[in-house]
Amino acid sequence: MAAVNHPALAAFCAAIGSELLLAQVLVRRQPTGFELRHASDREAGADTLRLVSASELRALANHTAAGEFRPIKAAPNLRAGWLCRVASDAELELALNQLYPGALADWFAIAQAERGSTSRAPVTHYREFTMRQTGMYRITTMLTDAQAQQVIRACCDARFCLKRRLWTVDALAPDTAAAKSLIPCLEPCAVLLEFARKAVRVEQEEAKATLTLAPSEVASLLAALETAVARPRASQREADLAAADNPRRLQLLREKLQGFAPVAGADAKE
Ligand code: SF4
Repeated sequence: MAAVNHPALAAFCAAIGSELLLAQVLVRRQPTGFELRHASDREAGADTLRLVSASELRALANHTAAGEFRPIKAAPNLRAGWLCRVASDAELELALNQLYPGALADWFAIAQAERGSTSRAPVTHYREFTMRQTGMYRITTMLTDAQAQQVIRACCDARFCLKRRLWTVDALAPDTAAAKSLIPCLEPCAVLLEFARKAVRVEQEEAKATLTLAPSEVASLLAALETAVARPRASQREADLAAADNPRRLQLLREKLQGFAPVAGADAKE
């Protein structure tokens, strides 16, 4: 059978070396084929891990260990405790597409652009993306640049998504691979869009409370929010943006409060 010409897969396999970390998945080259496991199982003995086939990885990637659906496959909550062995480059592609759909193609598109092989990275920025929206998502254009930046920082925080965001708004810097992963994010995803819509609706609420807080109280609020974001309840549904304690909503509140945080060294008098 003629070999399939697949430049993206060939380039990715060449980049693996002896091993490569793709978000939370460690890909290790074997004498024949590759082995995939969760990065937190790096040192685990193969006999302690559950052997799964490449086609079983999709079901594994669909839910968290607590059984909640994972709407963003690059969220840093991929289950651990499994091992997948693939015999060929083509099987590796199948396995990676179950875990991180489209990641390989997006990685290759950006690698090509960075090498100058293509004229422009295929990135769609916030303004261009939201201008195309119709119906209920049209209001996402109403966020100011500063508001959009807060929304993006909150939604795409590394605690929620390991994709390296390359699109932006105004002066917001894109993510680095070191801060996130090798998987690029080329345009706002459905969760970001819904989050931006929710943020506009929050801005439009009329009965706003006015609160005067001392810097120390702002610091306490920030600390409490940080704790809540770090320890969401077990049954928390990631995409349930209507929930007041949704971690992304709490993170957005943190973003808004940051501007009022006390300057370091300016503690209140004892
Ligand atoms: S838009 Fe943000 S949250 Fe959505 S996939 Fe991209 S980086 Fe992740």
